[in-house]
Amino acid sequence: MIPEEHTVPFATDGLVYHRDPPPGTREHWILVDGPSVVTGRDGTLLSDPAACRTVLADDPDRFMIGYDPRGSWCAVPISGSVLLPDGYARTHLRSLYGVIPDDLLGIASRAVALSRFFHTHRFCGICGAEMNRKEDEIATLCPSCGHIGYPVINPVVIVCIRQGDRILLARSPRFLPAVYGVIAGFVEAGETLEQAVAREVAEEVGIAIDTIRYRCSQPWPFPHSLMVGFTASYAGGSIRIDPNEIGEAGWYSYESLPTLPAAGSITRILIDLVVEEISRDTKS
Ligand SMILES: [Zn+2]
Repeated sequence: MIPEEHTVPFATDGLVYHRDPPPGTREHWILVDGPSVVTGRDGTLLSDPAACRTVLADDPDRFMIGYDPRGSWCAVPISGSVLLPDGYARTHLRSLYGVIPDDLLGIASRAVALSRFFHTHRFCGICGAEMNRKEDEIATLCPSCGHIGYPVINPVVIVCIRQGDRILLARSPRFLPAVYGVIAGFVEAGETLEQAVAREVAEEVGIAIDTIRYRCSQPWPFPHSLMVGFTASYAGGSIRIDPNEIGEAGWYSYESLPTLPAAGSITRILIDLVVEEISRDTKS
Protein backbone atom coordinates (compact mmCIF):
# COMPACT_ATOMS: atom_id res chain seq x y z
CA MET A 1 0.00 0.00 0.00
CA ILE A 2 1.09 3.57 -0.31
CA PRO A 3 3.58 4.96 2.19
CA GLU A 4 2.25 7.32 4.83
CA GLU A 5 3.86 10.40 3.35
CA HIS A 6 1.71 10.06 0.24
CA THR A 7 -1.82 11.40 0.53
CA VAL A 8 -4.44 10.77 -2.10
CA PRO A 9 -6.05 14.04 -3.20
CA PHE A 10 -9.75 14.08 -4.15
CA ALA A 11 -10.53 11.17 -1.79
CA THR A 12 -13.50 11.68 0.56
CA ASP A 13 -12.74 10.20 3.95
CA GLY A 14 -15.10 9.98 6.91
CA LEU A 15 -18.37 11.27 5.42
CA VAL A 16 -21.39 9.18 6.32
CA TYR A 17 -24.78 9.54 4.66
CA HIS A 18 -27.72 9.98 7.03
CA ARG A 19 -31.22 10.61 5.85
CA ASP A 20 -31.88 12.69 8.94
CA PRO A 21 -28.83 14.14 10.71
CA PRO A 22 -29.33 14.85 14.44
CA PRO A 23 -31.33 18.04 15.18
CA GLY A 24 -29.18 21.15 15.43
CA THR A 25 -26.55 19.74 13.09
CA ARG A 26 -24.65 22.56 11.43
CA GLU A 27 -25.09 22.69 7.68
CA HIS A 28 -22.29 23.40 5.22
CA TRP A 29 -22.87 24.14 1.55
CA ILE A 30 -20.61 23.68 -1.44
CA LEU A 31 -21.63 25.56 -4.58
CA VAL A 32 -20.87 23.46 -7.64
CA ASP A 33 -20.73 24.34 -11.33
CA GLY A 34 -19.38 21.46 -13.46
CA PRO A 35 -15.90 20.48 -12.21
CA SER A 36 -15.61 23.78 -10.33
CA VAL A 37 -16.66 24.96 -6.87
CA VAL A 38 -17.17 28.52 -5.67
CA THR A 39 -14.33 30.04 -3.68
CA GLY A 40 -14.55 33.21 -1.60
CA ARG A 41 -12.43 36.36 -1.44
CA ASP A 42 -9.68 34.55 0.50
CA GLY A 43 -9.41 31.91 -2.24
CA THR A 44 -10.69 29.11 -0.04
CA LEU A 45 -13.83 27.02 -0.36
CA LEU A 46 -17.05 28.89 0.34
CA SER A 47 -19.01 26.66 2.74
CA ASP A 48 -20.90 28.89 5.17
CA PRO A 49 -24.58 28.96 4.10
CA ALA A 50 -24.89 32.64 5.10
CA ALA A 51 -22.00 33.54 2.80
CA CYS A 52 -23.42 31.28 0.06
CA ARG A 53 -26.77 33.08 0.33
CA THR A 54 -25.06 36.35 -0.61
CA VAL A 55 -24.27 34.65 -3.92
CA LEU A 56 -27.67 33.02 -4.49
CA ALA A 57 -30.88 35.00 -4.65
CA ASP A 58 -33.25 32.27 -3.45
CA ASP A 59 -33.13 29.33 -1.09
CA PRO A 60 -31.33 27.01 -3.48
CA ASP A 61 -31.98 23.42 -4.45
CA ARG A 62 -29.44 21.29 -2.61
CA PHE A 63 -28.79 17.73 -1.55
CA MET A 64 -26.88 16.16 1.30
CA ILE A 65 -23.67 14.35 0.43
CA GLY A 66 -22.74 13.23 3.93
CA TYR A 67 -22.25 14.06 7.53
CA ASP A 68 -19.12 14.31 9.70
CA PRO A 69 -18.34 15.68 13.18
CA ARG A 70 -18.40 19.22 11.75
CA GLY A 71 -22.01 18.80 10.55
CA SER A 72 -23.79 17.93 7.35
CA TRP A 73 -22.43 18.78 3.93
CA CYS A 74 -24.69 19.73 1.03
CA ALA A 75 -23.94 20.19 -2.64
CA VAL A 76 -25.68 23.18 -4.21
CA PRO A 77 -25.53 22.97 -8.01
CA ILE A 78 -25.51 26.41 -9.64
CA SER A 79 -25.94 27.24 -13.30
CA GLY A 80 -23.39 29.03 -15.43
CA SER A 81 -25.67 32.08 -15.49
CA VAL A 82 -25.30 32.80 -11.74
CA LEU A 83 -23.21 35.96 -11.40
CA LEU A 84 -20.71 35.89 -8.56
CA PRO A 85 -19.81 38.99 -6.52
CA ASP A 86 -16.35 40.55 -6.96
CA GLY A 87 -13.64 38.37 -5.47
CA TYR A 88 -15.68 35.17 -5.67
CA ALA A 89 -14.76 32.65 -8.35
CA ARG A 90 -15.64 29.33 -9.92
CA THR A 91 -12.43 27.41 -9.22
CA HIS A 92 -11.61 24.07 -10.82
CA LEU A 93 -11.12 21.37 -8.18
CA ARG A 94 -7.65 20.62 -9.49
CA SER A 95 -6.57 24.19 -8.78
CA LEU A 96 -7.54 23.72 -5.14
CA TYR A 97 -5.07 20.88 -4.53
CA GLY A 98 -2.55 22.18 -1.99
CA VAL A 99 -4.65 25.34 -1.48
CA ILE A 100 -7.39 23.94 0.76
CA PRO A 101 -6.96 21.04 3.24
CA ASP A 102 -7.15 17.56 1.68
CA ASP A 103 -10.27 16.66 3.71
CA LEU A 104 -12.18 19.65 2.29
CA LEU A 105 -10.89 18.86 -1.20
CA GLY A 106 -12.29 15.35 -0.78
CA ILE A 107 -15.70 16.67 0.29
CA ALA A 108 -15.73 19.13 -2.62
CA SER A 109 -14.83 16.26 -4.96
CA ARG A 110 -17.83 14.26 -3.79
CA ALA A 111 -20.05 17.33 -4.25
CA VAL A 112 -18.80 17.69 -7.85
CA ALA A 113 -19.17 13.99 -8.65
CA LEU A 114 -22.70 13.71 -7.23
CA SER A 115 -23.88 16.98 -8.80
CA ARG A 116 -22.86 15.56 -12.14
CA PHE A 117 -24.61 12.26 -11.39
CA PHE A 118 -27.93 13.93 -10.53
CA HIS A 119 -27.63 16.31 -13.50
CA THR A 120 -27.07 13.47 -15.98
CA HIS A 121 -29.69 11.14 -14.47
CA ARG A 122 -32.77 13.36 -14.48
CA PHE A 123 -34.86 10.89 -16.47
CA CYS A 124 -35.51 7.19 -16.03
CA GLY A 125 -33.50 4.97 -18.38
CA ILE A 126 -36.35 2.44 -18.40
CA CYS A 127 -39.55 4.46 -18.86
CA GLY A 128 -38.37 8.05 -19.44
CA ALA A 129 -40.21 9.57 -16.44
CA GLU A 130 -38.57 12.35 -14.45
CA MET A 131 -36.53 10.86 -11.59
CA ASN A 132 -36.68 11.89 -7.94
CA ARG A 133 -33.78 11.90 -5.52
CA LYS A 134 -34.08 8.89 -3.24
CA GLU A 135 -34.26 9.97 0.38
CA ASP A 136 -32.67 7.09 2.27
CA GLU A 137 -29.53 6.79 0.15
CA ILE A 138 -27.64 8.64 -2.56
CA ALA A 139 -29.53 7.48 -5.63
CA THR A 140 -32.36 8.40 -7.99
CA LEU A 141 -35.79 6.73 -7.89
CA CYS A 142 -38.33 6.59 -10.70
CA PRO A 143 -41.82 7.43 -9.34
CA SER A 144 -43.39 5.63 -12.29
CA CYS A 145 -41.64 2.25 -12.60
CA GLY A 146 -39.51 2.12 -9.43
CA HIS A 147 -36.16 1.98 -11.23
CA ILE A 148 -33.28 3.01 -8.97
CA GLY A 149 -30.17 4.70 -10.39
CA TYR A 150 -26.91 4.70 -8.44
CA PRO A 151 -23.95 7.06 -8.91
CA VAL A 152 -21.76 6.16 -11.87
CA ILE A 153 -18.14 5.32 -11.12
CA ASN A 154 -15.95 4.20 -14.03
CA PRO A 155 -12.85 2.17 -13.10
CA VAL A 156 -9.66 3.15 -14.92
CA VAL A 157 -6.47 1.13 -14.51
CA ILE A 158 -3.14 2.93 -14.48
CA VAL A 159 0.23 1.22 -14.33
CA CYS A 160 3.85 2.21 -13.81
CA ILE A 161 6.16 -0.39 -15.46
CA ARG A 162 9.72 -1.04 -14.41
CA GLN A 163 12.61 -2.68 -16.27
CA GLY A 164 15.71 -2.79 -14.03
CA ASP A 165 16.47 0.82 -13.15
CA ARG A 166 14.32 2.24 -15.93
CA ILE A 167 10.65 3.27 -16.04
CA LEU A 168 8.33 3.22 -19.04
CA LEU A 169 6.92 6.69 -19.60
CA ALA A 170 4.58 7.79 -22.33
CA ARG A 171 3.21 11.04 -23.60
CA SER A 172 -0.41 11.25 -24.67
CA PRO A 173 -1.13 13.22 -27.84
CA ARG A 174 -3.65 15.05 -25.62
CA PHE A 175 -1.12 16.03 -22.90
CA LEU A 176 0.99 19.15 -22.73
CA PRO A 177 3.85 18.36 -25.15
CA ALA A 178 6.57 18.09 -22.52
CA VAL A 179 4.70 16.13 -19.82
CA TYR A 180 5.12 12.38 -19.57
CA GLY A 181 2.90 9.93 -17.74
CA VAL A 182 2.19 6.21 -17.56
CA ILE A 183 -0.20 3.83 -19.32
CA ALA A 184 -3.87 4.04 -18.38
CA GLY A 185 -7.24 3.00 -19.75
CA PHE A 186 -10.85 2.14 -18.94
CA VAL A 187 -11.70 -1.31 -17.67
CA GLU A 188 -13.92 -3.13 -20.17
CA ALA A 189 -16.99 -5.22 -19.35
CA GLY A 190 -16.05 -8.68 -18.14
CA GLU A 191 -12.40 -7.94 -17.35
CA THR A 192 -10.52 -8.22 -14.08
CA LEU A 193 -8.43 -5.19 -13.19
CA GLU A 194 -5.22 -7.16 -13.87
CA GLN A 195 -6.48 -8.28 -17.28
CA ALA A 196 -7.31 -4.66 -18.12
CA VAL A 197 -3.78 -3.59 -17.13
CA ALA A 198 -2.12 -6.23 -19.34
CA ARG A 199 -4.46 -5.47 -22.29
CA GLU A 200 -3.98 -1.69 -22.12
CA VAL A 201 -0.19 -2.07 -22.02
CA ALA A 202 -0.22 -4.51 -24.96
CA GLU A 203 -2.52 -2.22 -26.97
CA GLU A 204 -0.80 1.06 -26.28
CA VAL A 205 2.91 0.15 -26.24
CA GLY A 206 3.02 -3.47 -27.47
CA ILE A 207 4.99 -5.03 -24.62
CA ALA A 208 4.25 -7.89 -22.20
CA ILE A 209 4.34 -7.39 -18.44
CA ASP A 210 4.19 -9.52 -15.31
CA THR A 211 4.19 -9.04 -11.51
CA ILE A 212 1.12 -6.83 -11.83
CA ARG A 213 0.58 -5.53 -8.31
CA TYR A 214 -2.15 -3.26 -6.92
CA ARG A 215 -0.72 -0.23 -5.10
CA CYS A 216 -3.30 2.49 -4.52
CA SER A 217 -6.42 4.13 -5.90
CA GLN A 218 -7.69 7.66 -6.42
CA PRO A 219 -11.17 9.00 -7.10
CA TRP A 220 -10.95 11.23 -10.15
CA PRO A 221 -14.19 13.21 -10.47
CA PHE A 222 -13.46 14.50 -14.00
CA PRO A 223 -16.10 13.38 -14.53
CA HIS A 224 -16.59 10.07 -12.67
CA SER A 225 -13.57 7.79 -12.65
CA LEU A 226 -11.90 5.70 -10.01
CA MET A 227 -8.22 5.37 -10.89
CA VAL A 228 -6.86 1.98 -9.80
CA GLY A 229 -3.08 2.11 -9.61
CA PHE A 230 -0.68 -0.77 -10.28
CA THR A 231 3.00 -1.40 -10.72
CA ALA A 232 4.35 -4.12 -13.04
CA SER A 233 7.58 -5.48 -14.45
CA TYR A 234 8.63 -5.68 -18.09
CA ALA A 235 8.38 -9.25 -19.40
CA GLY A 236 9.15 -9.04 -23.14
CA GLY A 237 8.68 -7.38 -26.48
CA SER A 238 9.76 -4.02 -27.85
CA ILE A 239 7.86 -0.77 -27.70
CA ARG A 240 5.36 -0.32 -30.54
CA ILE A 241 3.00 2.57 -29.86
CA ASP A 242 -0.62 3.00 -30.82
CA PRO A 243 -0.44 6.49 -32.39
CA ASN A 244 -4.10 7.17 -31.57
CA GLU A 245 -3.40 6.81 -27.86
CA ILE A 246 0.30 7.54 -27.41
CA GLY A 247 2.43 10.35 -28.85
CA GLU A 248 5.74 8.91 -27.71
CA ALA A 249 6.93 6.25 -25.24
CA GLY A 250 10.29 5.08 -23.95
CA TRP A 251 12.36 3.77 -21.07
CA TYR A 252 13.83 6.41 -18.77
CA SER A 253 16.48 6.00 -16.10
CA TYR A 254 15.04 6.71 -12.66
CA GLU A 255 17.80 9.30 -12.22
CA SER A 256 16.95 11.35 -15.31
CA LEU A 257 13.20 11.45 -15.78
CA PRO A 258 11.53 13.96 -18.12
CA THR A 259 8.89 16.43 -16.91
CA LEU A 260 6.26 14.55 -14.90
CA PRO A 261 2.72 15.50 -13.91
CA ALA A 262 2.54 17.73 -10.84
CA ALA A 263 2.02 16.20 -7.40
CA GLY A 264 -1.58 15.31 -6.62
CA SER A 265 -2.27 12.78 -9.37
CA ILE A 266 -2.03 9.03 -9.01
CA THR A 267 0.38 9.02 -11.97
CA ARG A 268 2.86 10.95 -9.88
CA ILE A 269 2.21 8.83 -6.78
CA LEU A 270 2.96 5.62 -8.74
CA ILE A 271 6.08 7.01 -10.44
CA ASP A 272 7.40 8.27 -7.10
CA LEU A 273 6.76 4.84 -5.55
CA VAL A 274 8.72 3.03 -8.28
CA VAL A 275 11.56 5.56 -8.15
CA GLU A 276 11.80 4.95 -4.38
CA GLU A 277 11.87 1.18 -4.94
CA ILE A 278 14.59 1.35 -7.62
CA SER A 279 16.58 3.71 -5.46
CA ARG A 280 16.34 1.28 -2.52
CA ASP A 281 17.28 -1.73 -4.69
CA THR A 282 20.23 0.13 -6.20
CA LYS A 283 21.64 1.03 -2.79
CA SER A 284 21.21 -2.42 -1.23
ZN1 LIG B 1 -39.11 4.54 -14.81
